[in-house]
Amino acid sequence: MRYLDSRKKILVTGGAGFLGSHLIDRLIARGDEVVCADNLFTGTKRNIDHLHGHPRFEFIRHDVTFPLYIEVDQIYNLACPASPIHYQHDPVQTTKTSVHGAINMLGLAKRLKARIFQASTSEVYGDPVEHPQTESYRGNVNPIGPRSCYDEGKRCAETLFFDYHRQHRLDIRVARIFNTYGPRMHPNDGRVVSNFIVQALRGEDITLCGDGRQTRSFCYVDDLIEGFIRFMDMPSGANGEPGLPGPINLGSPCECTIRQLAEIVIELTGASAKIIFLPLPVDDPMQRKPDISLARKHLNDWQPSVCLEDGLRRTIEYFDQLLSHGK
Ligand code: NAD
Ligand code: UDP
Ligand code: UDP
Repeated sequence: MRYLDSRKKILVTGGAGFLGSHLIDRLIARGDEVVCADNLFTGTKRNIDHLHGHPRFEFIRHDVTFPLYIEVDQIYNLACPASPIHYQHDPVQTTKTSVHGAINMLGLAKRLKARIFQASTSEVYGDPVEHPQTESYRGNVNPIGPRSCYDEGKRCAETLFFDYHRQHRLDIRVARIFNTYGPRMHPNDGRVVSNFIVQALRGEDITLCGDGRQTRSFCYVDDLIEGFIRFMDMPSGANGEPGLPGPINLGSPCECTIRQLAEIVIELTGASAKIIFLPLPVDDPMQRKPDISLARKHLNDWQPSVCLEDGLRRTIEYFDQLLSHGK
């Protein structure tokens, strides 16, 4: 029997990962019931340990490339490795996760007539020529390089979302997420913020790729999750028409070079670490910064509120505790 009140049953795929586990915390805190489906490829039970035994939380070990038959009111589809080293480890599985995973979750949403959110990415813009990136920019993606399994997988997932939207009137919400960081990133995640912090705390060399002049714009996780929920909670249009499908950029518009990031991390950790230079990975985007005008306009003036230094302090504190407990 479905609820008589407004409480929802929500599926979060990839819920044992970094972003998924923070999203689940927010949904549980506001009273929803959550099913987390994750194959634990890059996620870890440690991220959801605190929810073990919670009456409104359920974990199922499931790979989204296989069909899933359950009953829910909403779906957040986050399942996919997000770090270049992990998504390039088994690239065929990465594309399958994005494409077959999207088909299965869209099929589920279609059967249930449920609203479905897609965690898309700024990588759909590739190595962007337009700067900052607006949602109308079509990108500059290499279809056959080492990042393509992720970039093209996510682009194809967007295509599927918009075709289910047009063909089956499915209520979709596609968010293009820009680099986000915070507690619960895996210490071996491989992305730049966790790498630099873990290296600095361990007194290891900081591995700077290229000359460090490439840019990213880093968003703190709590700000991003607020954006997810505002987007997903936007009501449908009049006469039951699906609401705003997106795509909408979610991320921080504060751009910095990777070298600046290394210097801030060294300063905040007080580490005596030195910077060493590694080759720039193939197809590594030279610049990235979202234009978030659309999110501000439609999501009740959403914009990040945590500045980079504060977010990094919180993340350093998390890794400091994690590493000192030897996990
Ligand atoms: P993460 O690696 O911590 O989380 C991904 C989760 O998906 C993990 O728990 C992993 O085990 C799970 N997963 C992977 N393949 C799966 C499969 N086939 N079936 C079921 N579960 C599977 O990464 P994250 O940063 O939390 O990213 C979450 C989502 O957000 C991803 O879709 C990612 O592409 C997207 N995203 C994240 C960022 C970011 O900066 N964090 C930026 C752009 C897009
Ligand atoms: N699917 C699922 N759960 C459901 C319904 C569908 O996992 O509750 C999967 C199933 O594998 C199916 C896919 O979603 O092949 C796409 O479903 P859709 O109804 O769009 O197309 P179908 O392939 O069934 O014609
Ligand atoms: N990077 C780096 N050192 C590292 C990891 C990454 O200099 O140890 C660089 C990487 O080459 C890229 C930027 O930091 O230019 C962001 O990399 P990340 O893997 O975090 O994300 P993405 O490239 O997907 O934005």
